[in-house]
This record gives sequence, C-alpha cells and structure tokens, in this order.
Amino acid sequence: MIIQLQENISEKNYSEISEKLKGIKFVPTEVITNEARYLVCIGKNEFDIRGIGALSGVKDVHRVSDSFKLVSRKWKVEETLIDLGDGVKIGRGNIGIMAGPCSIESEEQVLKVVEHLKKNNIRIMRGGVYKPRSSPYAFRGMGIDGLKMFSEICKANGIKIITEVMQVSQLEEMLQYVDIFQVGARNSQNYNLLDALGSVGKPVLLKRGISGTIDELLHSAEYIFSHGNEKLMLCERGIRTFENAYRNTFDINAIQVLKEKSHLPVIADPSHGVGIREFVPKLALASIISGADGVIYEVHEKPEEALSDGQQTLNFEESEKLICDLKKISPL
Ligand code: PEP
Ligand code: MN
Repeated sequence: MIIQLQENISEKNYSEISEKLKGIKFVPTEVITNEARYLVCIGKNEFDIRGIGALSGVKDVHRVSDSFKLVSRKWKVEETLIDLGDGVKIGRGNIGIMAGPCSIESEEQVLKVVEHLKKNNIRIMRGGVYKPRSSPYAFRGMGIDGLKMFSEICKANGIKIITEVMQVSQLEEMLQYVDIFQVGARNSQNYNLLDALGSVGKPVLLKRGISGTIDELLHSAEYIFSHGNEKLMLCERGIRTFENAYRNTFDINAIQVLKEKSHLPVIADPSHGVGIREFVPKLALASIISGADGVIYEVHEKPEEALSDGQQTLNFEESEKLICDLKKISPL
C-alpha cells in the first residue's frame, strides 16, 4: 500500500496514521522525494482502504500488490515526464533521442558530434568519461576533465548531457556538469550507488543488468525512488543468453512489459543490445514501435577509430538516416 501524505501534515495526524497501520500490522517506510511525501506500507492483512483514505493528513491511498511499489503503475497511472529544461522532455509522448560516442575522447570529437546533433535537431548527447571496461588495459575514459570539456561544449550549444557514474565518490564532482546520470549494466544492482542517486536531484537512466531480470530492474529503480528521486528512466540494453551470434540478446519484449508494469519512461539501447553496427537502426525503430519513450545509441565521426565500442557505433550518415526514419514513425 502507498499512502501519499499531505505536505503540511501535523504530528498528531501522522501518529494517528501510524497507529492505524500498527493496528492492521502494516510496516511503513517514510519516503520524502522532491515531489511528494509517502508512506510505503508492507503487510499481508486484509483491511478496508477507505478507513485509511478518510484519515486526516492523507492525500491519497493505493493498494499496490507488486513487491516494487513506488515505480509500479498500480498506483500512478499517469506516465512520468522527465523535463530537462529548455523544452527538452522525455515521456508522455515526447520521444527522447540520446546519441553520441561510447567514450568522450577529445574536444575535436565532441565538437564534431555536437555539430552532427545540431544539424539533426537532437538535443541530448551521450558520452562516457568513466568507462566500465572488461579489460583493465582498455581505454577507461577521460575522467572529470573530459566531463568538464564535454559539458562546456554542450552547454554552449544548447545540448543536454547523459553520462555514466560508476561510483558514489564521483557523484559530487560530476553533479554540476551532468543533465542525466546513467547507471550502467554492471552497476544495475549497486545498491549503495542507487541509494546515493536518490538525492542528486537530477534524472537518472537506469540500465538493466547484464543478466538482470525485469523484476530486478524494477526493484533497483525502487531503491532510487525510495531514496528521494522520482526522475527516473528504465533502459533495456540487452541481456546475456546462450546465443553468441551477437554481443547481447536485445530483449524487445521487455519494453512492453516494463511499460505495463511501471509508470517510468522506457529507453532502448540498441547499440549495446545487439553490438553490431548494421543491425542498430532497425532495432531502434522497432523499439519505438514497441512503445519505448526514446532511444540511446552510439555515433562517432569515424567508428573504426573509436576508442571503445566502434563495432556497434554508427557513422554520421547512418545516424542521420536513422533520425529521419525515427521522425517518420514518430513526430519528435
Ligand atoms: C555504455 O553506455 O557505453 C555502456 C558501458 O553501457 P552498458 O552499461 O549498457 O554496458
Ligand atoms: Mn558503449
């Protein structure tokens, strides 16, 4: 059960609600987000929900049978809208396109991608500065100096930034330069990081774990929401299966299932989803047709020279064609 409290609830009314919950053996956890104040209540007993709704200080009350609560669609039918400012929105019919290199590599590279995005009216650029790599000898990103450069160029060009945070200690120095924090597949169940992202006040794109189930993804999202951040997006980026003809198995089923189970926007990442450049555009289109609220994909001026993930990265021409095709199926 989720009880939404009146913002200015008195101590007296609060204890009356607590007493009532004790009576029906429900254990409440208080959640205060930047948007509202809730009691998330866990229990098994049957009760009359009207008896709770009638208490003073209660704004709204919902029965939620899912074990994830705040991210469930069972209490919030209206979809979440992510508003990045300056007219850039994702969700509720606003398709978010986030494109850029796997890794930020140089000023020249960022300028080239920014030019490509502006030409095609794309307002969000992706690019990692902290890179989780399978090998410790591979390029691991430009770090905070790369982020400062990336942010400065994007700000000057009216472009928003999404970049991956890998650990709690990076959050503070990254905060002012980032518009959306990405949680990568490898960190999808790093609960300390998820807790900390509850208080950053900026949107978070949470990727599904490499072998993560849909249920695990939704529970990870619940960590961030229950620590105070409602500005959340879920991302399908492929999972590991027995199939090895491609990098990952892009689980397109997940898009519809997540949309049905949660009110959060769902973003598709076909680049990591399949890992093979030529298959990326059609998967991006299929994702939007399946109901995704946006796509995130990798693009680079010269994919063959990219310092990471070049094999799944589109060049500018391929990216431009994809954007045109996306515009045909959905007005951006
Ligand atoms: C990335 O976006 O470049 C990345 C490392 O993604 P994932 O966490 O999905 O592997
Ligand atoms: Mn990548």
